[in-house]
Amino acid sequence: METEQYVCTVCGYNMAGYYPGHCPFCGAGRETFITSEECSGSFHVEGTEVNEYVTRLSSIPSLGLEHAAYRVETDETIFWIDCPSSFDVDVRSMDVIMFTHHHFLGASNQYRNHFTSEVRIHKADSSFELCRGFTFDDTSRPSLLSSLNCPNIIVNC
Ligand SMILES: [Zn+2]
Repeated sequence: METEQYVCTVCGYNMAGYYPGHCPFCGAGRETFITSEECSGSFHVEGTEVNEYVTRLSSIPSLGLEHAAYRVETDETIFWIDCPSSFDVDVRSMDVIMFTHHHFLGASNQYRNHFTSEVRIHKADSSFELCRGFTFDDTSRPSLLSSLNCPNIIVNC
């Protein structure tokens, strides 16, 4: 279901399906919010190569306190670790978005819908209020990543 979405320009937090008086992450007033459509019109996502498998992803120009996300490419799967705050349909599609935390979920719900990606987060993180408006794949189910030859990635913590 399509819902309104706002982005706090102070911190980059996305509010999906609700319009609070203050940003639930940084407390900035709603006068600092832009719609996700305005965000997509003003910001884009750029990748900076880290090595042949890893690319750092950032909103350009920088969007609030957003920290970098990463795209990791294997022979079988492209996954992101964390997610940019801005939604850019021109990015290369990803199979899975994995979160290391529950604070900044970026525009992961929009990427998920657009690219039909899995969104994975630790089940203990998925119930926080800051996750409101975001949906995740079954956090207890073995992920697509479990089939990868990535012994250093802990999939089900
Ligand atoms: Zn904020």
